[in-house]
Amino acid sequence: TSDSPAIQPDVSQLKIGFIGAGNMAFGIAQGIMASGKVPPSNIIISAPSMNNLPRFQERGVSVTHSNNEVVDSSRLVFLAVKPHLISKVLNEISQNVTQEHVIVSVAAGITLETLEELLPAGTRVIRIMPNLPCMLLEGALLLACGSCAGQEEETLLKTLLGPCGLVEAGPETWIDAHVGLSGSGVAFVYVFAEALADGAVKMGMPSALARRIAAQTILGAGVLLRDTGKLPAELKAEVCTPGGTTIHGIHALEKGGFRAATIGAVEAATERARELG
Ligand code: NAD
Repeated sequence: TSDSPAIQPDVSQLKIGFIGAGNMAFGIAQGIMASGKVPPSNIIISAPSMNNLPRFQERGVSVTHSNNEVVDSSRLVFLAVKPHLISKVLNEISQNVTQEHVIVSVAAGITLETLEELLPAGTRVIRIMPNLPCMLLEGALLLACGSCAGQEEETLLKTLLGPCGLVEAGPETWIDAHVGLSGSGVAFVYVFAEALADGAVKMGMPSALARRIAAQTILGAGVLLRDTGKLPAELKAEVCTPGGTTIHGIHALEKGGFRAATIGAVEAATERARELG
């Protein structure tokens, strides 16, 4: 990376672009703006139609229908179009991408190798995999650097995207596991939430109340796990009074193969992500 010009260290001066104005772009842009360090006027976003652009415009972000205008006026460019459109968009912008740029793709299943092939040699490329709660600034994001990007770009992205939630870095091979754990994992938690509430309904509680309490139980358990730094097993032990209610419930979960099913779910989703990539 030593040949590439240093990316603007003062993020308040950094020009940031988005190509694609969907939900992911919105979540990430909100996170970047939430830090208060990047003025919305330093962000520009493109999409072919006006459909998704007003919500960005309302927040003071510049909007355009030209992807190359985004590239020409930004140093850090997020590719936030659907994966099947990545090669079309890169063919369109490639001649405007310079060594000054850092290109960040959120497209699922598009490898760093493919991105680098479609961009000029030496381009700094990063893949980032967010999950749905990114929209609420409670995401879990994993980033992987291409062959010309490194510590400097990783640090910049961790700083910029910090408000989106947890931002971690790792080798590209971990991205598929992250999809299984966190991208798909969100839906596994919803299945658990539904089942928790159904349990209470079975025992006589009205379903709407049961769903509200299930949601809050999952939220509270998650915040405790994240903020205490304790192992799940430690927190579980704190709730399990000898001979009490929780250990009886845990026995029922274990009899149902809950752990094996959950491990299998992450494995299956990861393998599917590998197949699709
Ligand atoms: P989306 O359909 O909401 O948004 C796509 C946007 O791209 C739209 O604004 C559309 O107008 C725009 N677009 C279409 N063609 C374009 C073109 N030629 N040039 C510029 N813009 C164009 O999709 P999304 O859910 O925001 O997903 C975007 C990317 O994020 C995808 O590649 C997806 O793999 C990735 N991703 C999404 C999630 C998720 O939970 N939604 C999670 C991880 C990764």
